[in-house]
Amino acid sequence: MQLLDGKKISEEVLNEIAEEVKSIKDRGGKVPHLAAIIVGSDGASITYVNNKVKSCERVGFTSTHIELPATTSEEALLAKIQEINNNPDIDGLIVQMPLPAHISADKVVQSIDPAKDVDGFHPANVGRLALGLPTYVSATPHGVTQLLKRYQLPTEGKHCVVLGRSNIVGSPMSILMSKNTYPGNSTVTICHSKTKNLAEITRQADILIVAIGKAEFVGADMVKEGAVVIDVGIHRLEDPSKKSGFRLKGDVKFDEVSAKASYLTPVPGGVGLMTICSLLENTLKAAKKEIYP
Ligand code: NAP
Repeated sequence: MQLLDGKKISEEVLNEIAEEVKSIKDRGGKVPHLAAIIVGSDGASITYVNNKVKSCERVGFTSTHIELPATTSEEALLAKIQEINNNPDIDGLIVQMPLPAHISADKVVQSIDPAKDVDGFHPANVGRLALGLPTYVSATPHGVTQLLKRYQLPTEGKHCVVLGRSNIVGSPMSILMSKNTYPGNSTVTICHSKTKNLAEITRQADILIVAIGKAEFVGADMVKEGAVVIDVGIHRLEDPSKKSGFRLKGDVKFDEVSAKASYLTPVPGGVGLMTICSLLENTLKAAKKEIYP
């Protein structure tokens, strides 16, 4: 089994972005600027946003980190988003999910200017993805395709099984893998909680992309010998022996599946790091007005 090393590939991508930002600066161009809003103080969300902001600094972007209390009203959040939509200096805006229960995530996503929606969650950008038009591909599925591409793994004509149909991972992932592009041109099967005989289907996968949000759900019995397995899941499991108090696990039983897969992503060090890269790539595109000229 060969690791699909998100750490190594994300370093390569970050270096490439940093080089481009340097040349933009040298030419006197506009430095990309990402704004991130977080509402409340969920531990995992804070870590994710801090990592995103740190990565912005690493590649030379400007970043604005806006922390709002969990009691922020929906109206106040929408007003903040509007303010950022109207700020010509800010190229990209992300609002960290999940939001407190009294705020509608749909309303929030739809209030972001599609031209600044670097998470690629706005219906306009999802529609463009479905139609094969230039768009901000949502960061996690894009990160997965970049891993496949950088390892030059063949996808054409392969049976790709996507486990999970969420709007942010499974659904866009299945669209991307079915498109007439590389990576893509796969025959795609989407599985979800109502799928019957799940293991029978996942065992047919040449490429198995797992995003079901259940720690270590996929074992060796669900994987075909030689399959490429991408584990999107991230779970913080309590572990008092660790300094942080937790350890990270994926949706796949790494030890079991590594004995069967030809390629496998580790958790941590796999898809998560690629997700941040994709967000930065989208922000660079936004600053260059590549998608919405
Ligand atoms: P989600 O919204 O909870 O979606 C889970 C999907 O899995 C749903 O489509 C659900 O089916 C399906 N499912 C749940 N239990 C199942 C079962 N027993 N059998 C078959 N299908 C089942 O999760 P998500 O947001 O897509 O995230 C998935 C995982 O990826 C999570 O662990 C999350 O933390 C992680 N994640 C990682 C990154 C990253 O950067 N690496 C980014 C985003 C998410 P139904 O539709 O029928 O309910």
